[in-house]
Amino acid sequence: MNKPLILVVEDDTSVKNLITTTLKAHDYRYLAAGNGETAILDASSHNPDIMLLDLGLPDMDGVEVIKKIRTWSNMPILVISARSEDTDKIDALDAGADDYLTKPFSVEELLARLRVIQRRLLMMRQESSLEKSVFKNGDLKVDYAAGCAFLGDVELHLTPIEYKLLCLLSRNVGKVLTHTYITQNIWGSSWENDVASLRVFMATLRKKIEKGADSQQYIQTHIGVGYRMIKVE
Ligand code: CA
Repeated sequence: MNKPLILVVEDDTSVKNLITTTLKAHDYRYLAAGNGETAILDASSHNPDIMLLDLGLPDMDGVEVIKKIRTWSNMPILVISARSEDTDKIDALDAGADDYLTKPFSVEELLARLRVIQRRLLMMRQESSLEKSVFKNGDLKVDYAAGCAFLGDVELHLTPIEYKLLCLLSRNVGKVLTHTYITQNIWGSSWENDVASLRVFMATLRKKIEKGADSQQYIQTHIGVGYRMIKVE
């Protein structure tokens, strides 16, 4: 894949310079916008592959930018937030962002997140060209058509809820899913935010697919936010 075109949306000049210098040094193509309105215009006219979005913009909230973009585009959005409160990240993720970075962040962190997003982008493109019926990630395999899952050659004995959870996570591999998003998808809105139940089912699912109690090889916990399935190298 060619180096993706990245739209950097940041009004703070020093942070913007740090990001664009890093992108330039690593041979990424980029565009920069300093407010929400320009960001939306640039996104529609230049069709970037990835958006790096600051949530605190001078003209509108970054969450509004995500909502607008999501009406026509599913490009990966990495939110960059100065606010450390979980609610901002959760609002951004629920609006359709893929991942978040909290300021201050290191150049290495930024590059690592970009690599995760590029893998997700690659998978999204492969999936759209060929509707996939089997998901493979390391030793884990989910056969959506047959409705079963395997670890290596061994079929996993999952309850219907565990299987639904595994499907939801695998279909969104690389993306952080919030508690609300997961509970709504698994149980519908009546169970919305029943995080305690979700935790119980997630623990039993993990027991079946992870190597040990503390292992997060496949499913990463984002405390106070949600969960993400990691794409195993
Ligand atoms: Ca800002």
